[in-house]
Amino acid sequence: MTSSADTAPLILALSKGRIFKDTLPLLTHAGIVPLDDPETTRKLILDTNHPGIKLLILRASDVPTYVQYGAADIGVAGKDVLMEHGGDGLFELLDLNIARCKLMVAGRPGCLDRPGRLRVATKFVHSAECFFAEQGRQIELIKLYGSMELAPLVDLADCIVDVVDTGNTLRANGLEPLLHMADISSRLIVNRAAYKLKHGAIAALAAHLSDYLNKAAPAP
Ligand code: AMP
Repeated sequence: MTSSADTAPLILALSKGRIFKDTLPLLTHAGIVPLDDPETTRKLILDTNHPGIKLLILRASDVPTYVQYGAADIGVAGKDVLMEHGGDGLFELLDLNIARCKLMVAGRPGCLDRPGRLRVATKFVHSAECFFAEQGRQIELIKLYGSMELAPLVDLADCIVDVVDTGNTLRANGLEPLLHMADISSRLIVNRAAYKLKHGAIAALAAHLSDYLNKAAPAP
């Protein structure tokens, strides 16, 4: 006999853009193909070729919240987003090794030498608070939602905390990466309750993704 948890669809939350694009080959390897393209459809719940699997298309920073509250069973979220969320009710099943970048403190050369309280502009407020507290440095946090690189240029802040990939955006604005805070990549996260109730489906999906990652890993 199958329980209702076994027959209920598995709900996977992810964001469109970089994470969706990079997750698609992994899903394909697991035999899961979305029936719509999130870049062109206005639908927020996507069916897949697999009747037992549906995708929720969310803003990246909302993915951990949907998984935490069980509105999605599993999700794909960047480590930067998870660090900000705090990870309550979730655990990280797999490092998907996609959307890799670094969380950095950046600014004009010498900006950290300024005496007294440092003005730090960022959307990563929790990560910035923890990082500078560990360094024993007093800061004033300025919460922004985007284009952080602008803040030091117009003297809104001394430095920023942001994700850096190639460093081109920083360089184009006369800024430099100054302190490394964390290596970032996307993780497969799971709701703790869903992991027990839908263990078979989640473990099977994780095994397919893990197989893809092992094949994609460069030989030692
Ligand atoms: P880059 O110029 O290559 O260093 O890219 C920096 C900008 O791209 C940052 O301002 C970020 O907003 C964005 N970015 C780069 N990598 C990622 C990533 N893995 N996840 C989210 N945003 C990223």
